Amino acid sequence: MEQIIKTDIFIAGAGPAGIAAAVAASELGMSVCIAEKNSFPGGRATASAVGTVCGLYLRSQRSPQYVLHGFPKLFAERLMKISGKSPVLFSEGLWFLPSHPADFEKTARAFLSGNGITTLYETCVERVESSSKRITAVYCSRGNENMKIVPECVIDCSGEGIICTSVNHNFISDEEYQAAAIVFSLKNISDADEFQLSYLLLKKITLLIEESKVPEYYNLLGIIPHSLSNKSVQMKMGLPWKTGGEDLASVDVKARVLVSEICNFLKLSVPGFEHSEMEWIAGEVGVRTGIRARGKDTLTDEDVLSCKKRVDGICNGAWPVEYWRTGNKRVEMTFLPENDFYSIPAGCLESGEKENLFFAGKIISAGEKAIASARVIGTCLGTGYAAGVLASFKASAKERNIAIEYIKKKCLKRNE
Ligand SMILES: Cc1cc2nc3c(=O)[nH]c(=O)nc-3n(C[C@H](O)[C@H](O)[C@H](O)COP(=O)(O)OP(=O)(O)OC[C@H]3O[C@@H](n4cnc5c(N)ncnc54)[C@H](O)[C@@H]3O)c2cc1C
Repeated sequence: MEQIIKTDIFIAGAGPAGIAAAVAASELGMSVCIAEKNSFPGGRATASAVGTVCGLYLRSQRSPQYVLHGFPKLFAERLMKISGKSPVLFSEGLWFLPSHPADFEKTARAFLSGNGITTLYETCVERVESSSKRITAVYCSRGNENMKIVPECVIDCSGEGIICTSVNHNFISDEEYQAAAIVFSLKNISDADEFQLSYLLLKKITLLIEESKVPEYYNLLGIIPHSLSNKSVQMKMGLPWKTGGEDLASVDVKARVLVSEICNFLKLSVPGFEHSEMEWIAGEVGVRTGIRARGKDTLTDEDVLSCKKRVDGICNGAWPVEYWRTGNKRVEMTFLPENDFYSIPAGCLESGEKENLFFAGKIISAGEKAIASARVIGTCLGTGYAAGVLASFKASAKERNIAIEYIKKKCLKRNE
């Protein structure tokens, strides 16, 4: 029998954007139902074991200054308390927060246990019913159980645009998507520190590539910064082939074969890894970018690079355009000026096609280079929160302008 759930706000996906959207809507007194296909929250930060939270701070050589306040800052503070870690200055004035997947999951679960939020794990959004103007129902399944969710408003935070696809929404697509990667952890690493290990790894790989003894794609292997602890280290291997169009299950199988090859290589050839053993491998390959919903407004590549500020801005971004091209090259970074940021207009989160549909996270309406900046976790927490507020105001028939002012006050202004 089909279970029917009525809710003010329905959210697809409990990644960074979905978590933030749920918290925002529950703060506003809405009933919230969030469906997550995995048995845990966190999205790429847990399922793909992304090891650092970027996009929380302005670029600065001096100290980590939040570019977002309110919920993204609160999330970072709770994560720091759980993990015992602090922001780290990387190169070029970039700050990030190291984050073990287990700590991210704990933090996310704590927020999702808030009042008014029903989190349905192992629940997959299957299809959507809609009229010409509105989404009227979302159908989900959990094992043999079927659910019909009847929402006032819907927020697509699935990272893949599952809701938008189901209603044949307009999308922004690129000719080519960024390279995917797989994260794994090795134990029994030598006593070397992380800097030494990275140096030895890079030196060996560069030499062996020059001598044509290993394929050039070995240079897509790296250590996740600040992940070395108790002789375990997390590694990220970029996938050397294009993944757009290929189904995720077969990408996953090929990625696991590649990781096994890389582990053998490390053991046999790289000092510091002689006794290394596989500790764990991320449950899902990390797909960086894909189609984005086309909204009422679009964040353009130029908006990001020129640090354009908007009166209807609902989230700030300060992370560089970080573009991982498929193939043999390392990441291409285009930096924003120090202490500067761009703003993301509300319309990038709103559908112009279905009046009760919103989107957040890595599927916001944005250009190819714009999303290469705005897809980082800190910014996804920001767009998720904003989408939660916009949807809640819509569900209560309150004015959009007041919603935008509310978000600005909560997240874009220092409240300390
Ligand atoms: C390899 C890689 C490295 C990265 N490195 C970093 C980094 O170092 N720092 C950083 O800040 N960012 C990094 N990112 C980017 C960042 O992790 C993601 O862009 C971000 O997590 C996107 O958040 P999201 O909430 O939009 O989507 P996601 O994190 O993808 O979450 C979407 C959620 O929706 C769920 N879902 C999908 N379909 C359905 C369905 N049909 N039904 C129910 N649930 C569904 C998924 O299971 C998932 O939990 C990296 C990304 C990748 C892939």
